Amino acid sequence: MSMRKEFLPFSRPSITEADIAAVGEVLRSGWITTGSKNAQFEEKFCKYTGCTGAVALSSATAGMHLALKALKIGKGDEVITPSMTWVSTVNLIVLSGATPVFVDIDRDTLMVTADLIQEHLSANTRLIIPVHFAGAPVDMAPVRKLAQGRNIAIIEDAAHAIGTEYHGEKIGKNDTSIFSFHPIKNITSGEGGMFCSDDLDLVDQIRRLKFHGLGVDAFDRRTQGRSPQAQVLEPGFKYNLPDILAVLGIQQLARVEDFNDKRTQLAMHYRERLTEVEELRPLAVPAYSHKHSWHLFIVRLDIEKSKLSQNDFMEELKKKNIGTGLHFRAVHRQKYYMETMKIPSGILPNTEWNSERICSLPLFPGMTHEDVDDVIDTIKDILKS
Ligand SMILES: *Cc1c(COP(=O)(O)O)cnc(C)c1O
Repeated sequence: MSMRKEFLPFSRPSITEADIAAVGEVLRSGWITTGSKNAQFEEKFCKYTGCTGAVALSSATAGMHLALKALKIGKGDEVITPSMTWVSTVNLIVLSGATPVFVDIDRDTLMVTADLIQEHLSANTRLIIPVHFAGAPVDMAPVRKLAQGRNIAIIEDAAHAIGTEYHGEKIGKNDTSIFSFHPIKNITSGEGGMFCSDDLDLVDQIRRLKFHGLGVDAFDRRTQGRSPQAQVLEPGFKYNLPDILAVLGIQQLARVEDFNDKRTQLAMHYRERLTEVEELRPLAVPAYSHKHSWHLFIVRLDIEKSKLSQNDFMEELKKKNIGTGLHFRAVHRQKYYMETMKIPSGILPNTEWNSERICSLPLFPGMTHEDVDDVIDTIKDILKS
């Protein structure tokens, strides 16, 4: 079989001339940092997801940092989160002085369940951070029930879940949720994030903390910047999103449904063709009512049958001009966390099993069905030889 001429990246943002023009317009306007485009982005985000309040930020990581701060998470507190997540969450928990408590995941959806979480609840549990994975939603109803009776907060990591629905409602509508607009996510603002909550006091606090702790009022949100008289109400950070980026977010949000439809079509094509490849197993889609946003297309390699390691498999694909991703190496298998937390192997069996086998195949709206065929044909070639 002949090799692809052009490298197929694992992800590529969809940027149009109209996106570029919109950014250019902000650049020419005389106001390029946080201002009216941020306010518009937040309003449109609330309208789209159904959340009550939203704050645009420089990243999802910034949002998680501010959320931990606002909830006063610190020394002596335990935060339950999967080890199968992006490492930023765990870094922030550790930096806050609190203790991360890793919960295992369902072997075939890579998501936490209420049953798994329950085993880790203690008198010190203050917060649960479930991660919606690859575009599918966590089964939140039983998780909410667990937390409610115990006065435990929930922050949903929704970095993969813009447009994802759970029982007919968009992620973001319930609970406090944090979205990411990093370039590989379903929509991008270059870099950026959105903090969403229906707790408006919390939303106001995040709005303060993202900009030095300066007080804001309703008027400020509709004008460019804050009044020069604004006072520091508590020490804060500088995690605001410039309007240059917010306008790109607005542009992309208008196309999110199209992006997700295209992703879904490509994912269905992958699933169909994967029936020809015994050595690869896609993730299972949840049995409960949901709408998938297909952020990632993850397969698990049968390392015993194929006699290939995950790394070899990814390297072989790269040699054949096909990019892949790894979402994620389990956090407790990262050097620092191995040395400091010393979690014995076998405690998080499904996390570890997947950590050694997962691979994200190329998936982005600008891809074609022929590209999907190329990926599958190339994989079949690699596994044959
Ligand atoms: C991308 C990602 C983040 C971090 O998002 P940033 O905007 O890059 O800070 C957090 N959690 C998960 C699961 C992610 O995939």
